[in-house]
Amino acid sequence: MTARVIDGKAFAANVRAQVAAHVARLKEEQGLTPGLAVVLVGEDPASQVYVRNKGTQTVEAGMASFEHKLPADTSEADLLALVARLNADPKVHGILVQLPLPAHLNSELIINTIDPAKDVDGFHISNVGLLGTGQKSMVPCTPLGCLMMLRDHHGKLAGLNAVVVGRSNIVGKPMAQLLLGDSCTVTIAHSRTKDLAEVCRRADILVAAVGRPEMITGDMVKPGATVIDVGINRIERDGKARLVGDVHYESAAAVAGAITPVPGGVGPMTIACLLANTLTACCRANGLPEPE
Ligand code: NDP
Repeated sequence: MTARVIDGKAFAANVRAQVAAHVARLKEEQGLTPGLAVVLVGEDPASQVYVRNKGTQTVEAGMASFEHKLPADTSEADLLALVARLNADPKVHGILVQLPLPAHLNSELIINTIDPAKDVDGFHISNVGLLGTGQKSMVPCTPLGCLMMLRDHHGKLAGLNAVVVGRSNIVGKPMAQLLLGDSCTVTIAHSRTKDLAEVCRRADILVAAVGRPEMITGDMVKPGATVIDVGINRIERDGKARLVGDVHYESAAAVAGAITPVPGGVGPMTIACLLANTLTACCRANGLPEPE
């Protein structure tokens, strides 16, 4: 079997086009422009690339982009003051503080200072609680993108066995909550899981969010399963820099029914969902119907 490739790039382009069309209507009918503020502290090269891409795609969708680049030695008090200003700014509907933050800054404190209604990353403790209790919330962008691709591929997910490898607060745990919300039977695996291969082979849906290059191999995949590879790992192979996922693509694609590639799978969906969340936040803030 050769797996169907789930084209995250094309899917994301479609989501962005829908967001842009909605933004154009908001401007015309309500005189409103959704705004996204992105805060970057320090000069982590990967974060700089993400922030640049976010800014470009925000503007392409017709939204306002506010970038705040702060030096690595920014004090916690100064960062908290900036978040407070953005919370109070009516032009800003979404706030994203790019993680990881330099070690001297308390990430939890800073994220929990963002107005939950503007927390487009969905990391504020209020949004985590709302998601966990099945209430309307801001949903973290990466798992939301995975869920959208899974729904598109499968239609209904109810009753499917889902295994999420990884239990981070930003990917693994919210992914598991979303799959549970769609009535999957969910297992969360992690570094202490016994016989990971056997656990993975039970999965109709296998989500890899581990941060270990090509760790999930074809022998860990149930024939016909859908494999979602969240991993973004920069490695060097044959003297060349390469981007690979947490899944060993060739061996997994030979067994799976469908698979997301890296690059071009989950990655582009993350920013598309960020734009969608910013639009949703703008609509909610103005008492307008939310996008579908
Ligand atoms: P974390 O490092 O926060 O979490 C990794 C998880 O994997 C942990 O729960 C850890 O278990 C588990 N794990 C580590 N080693 C093993 C192992 N040998 N067997 C089983 N489980 C293991 O990573 P993130 O969740 O932040 O990110 C995961 C991956 O997704 C990374 O490659 C990251 O770059 C990528 N990513 C991609 C995004 C995108 O837009 N596509 C966005 C965010 C992340 P334990 O808890 O026991 O330590």
